[in-house]
Amino acid sequence: MIVVLCGPGGVGKGTVAGEVVKRLPVLSLSRSWTTREARPGESVDAYTFVNREQFLAAARDGFFLEWEEFNGNLYGTPRASPRPGSVLLLEIDAKGARTVRRLSPTALIIGLEPPSLATLGERMAQRGDDTRHIERRLAIAADEMRVARDVADWIIVNNDLPETVDSVVERIEDWLATRTRGE
Ligand code: 5GP
Repeated sequence: MIVVLCGPGGVGKGTVAGEVVKRLPVLSLSRSWTTREARPGESVDAYTFVNREQFLAAARDGFFLEWEEFNGNLYGTPRASPRPGSVLLLEIDAKGARTVRRLSPTALIIGLEPPSLATLGERMAQRGDDTRHIERRLAIAADEMRVARDVADWIIVNNDLPETVDSVVERIEDWLATRTRGE
């Protein structure tokens, strides 16, 4: 069973995912691999940071459930099975979510959106992305949101963190209840 949080970079997926996992211990947060450099101050646990050769070798070996190139870097979800009985929570981009939908039609996919693209730009700047990077990422973000709207079961606007976390938890609880009843 897979739950996906997708949406543009900088929308707050990581923060929301961290809070949701605290509220729903049945969830097991997947740690992706990336070829991106760690950001200053970013936790070493945020990703498994690897070089391109290591990533592509793992991809060739079928190590990933899905992987995508995003803004010049590679990101992939390891197939590694979660704790027995747990539900895998993926925090990935919208194209990755589309792949998961194809592989697992009953997955729950939730798209997070910023209140506006301007707010998203401010959040990116706050976390230290350079301005050129931000302009490019805002263009990518608009695309991401189109794909997410197409693939997601629910779209939630991340305006207020506690409210967003409540909404995401509620959607996951409803989905878990439906799945447990075998619907
Ligand atoms: P960032 O560089 O900001 O951490 O991540 C860039 C984008 O890649 C974000 O939208 C993030 O959710 C996405 N991402 C992170 N891990 C994965 C993954 O394993 N697969 C895919 N498809 N996207 C990922």
